[in-house]
Amino acid sequence: MDKEITNIIKAGKICSDVKKWVISNSLVIKGVPLIDIAEKIENKIIELGGKPAFPVNTSINEVAAHYTPYFDDKSIAHGLIKIDFGVHVDGWAADNAISFDLENSQENKKLIESASKALATAIEIVQNKKDKTSTFELGSVIQSSIQEDGFIPIINLSGHSIDHFDLHSGITIPNISQKSSSQQLDDGLFAIEPFVTLSSASGRVYDGKPSGIYQIKNLKNVRSPTAREILNYINEEYGTLPFCSRWLYKKFGSKAFIALKELESNGIVHQYDQLIESSKCKVAQAEHTILINEGKVIITTE
Ligand code: MN
Ligand code: MN
Repeated sequence: MDKEITNIIKAGKICSDVKKWVISNSLVIKGVPLIDIAEKIENKIIELGGKPAFPVNTSINEVAAHYTPYFDDKSIAHGLIKIDFGVHVDGWAADNAISFDLENSQENKKLIESASKALATAIEIVQNKKDKTSTFELGSVIQSSIQEDGFIPIINLSGHSIDHFDLHSGITIPNISQKSSSQQLDDGLFAIEPFVTLSSASGRVYDGKPSGIYQIKNLKNVRSPTAREILNYINEEYGTLPFCSRWLYKKFGSKAFIALKELESNGIVHQYDQLIESSKCKVAQAEHTILINEGKVIITTE
């Protein structure tokens, strides 16, 4: 257990250091290519002794999540941008996100503040409760905090428990009051992540274009030697954590795309879709990872 906690704390510290570095170096400013932001963060994580737990997400405005730059991405930073990144140390992950307003928009700033406030309120509940917190309590305080600000949460995006090499390990922390599926938070690792949008929005995301973010689903034999070679590499480098076509292109060139197509059509890897707010309203996000250890709460990514 001690070794695990050491890795959990180390991953969180790297996450936190990278976040401070991103802010103090003004990495996320209007007009900067998204691919530069993503690669600088991924390289910094490695420089500090961690590995990216998943490809850096740079989702803009109504794209709530799951946008990572393609290998030849030309998009530039603008609007309300969510930088969601994670670090793992020997498979133990820290997951966090920060939102930036690149338009000097009061509305964007309020959405971002609302997400941060909802996150802080939820974490306080876990820290201050004498007994175990339920996911129902967390969803309820997140929802009411956001509604107090005149906004609404995204209903079908949520926080999650984290386990070894497993970013979404079973427990869901909703961003709305949801009594039916409530669970108690025992000792463990949890990401809390409110997503906030305008009250006029539908408050739901739908699956958009393929993201280029993949994950091994079902490790089995594959016919072509190239796909087999690339699958072996994926399995060794990323295991069951998410990866992206941009990373594989860097290592293997364009044959990575052919291999990924084969692996996807054989059900060996799953490709995630971008998640888009269905009324095309902009979305802000805040996220921290907390460790509950013998009832004591540590915000690993603070
Ligand atoms: Mn995240
Ligand atoms: Mn998360």
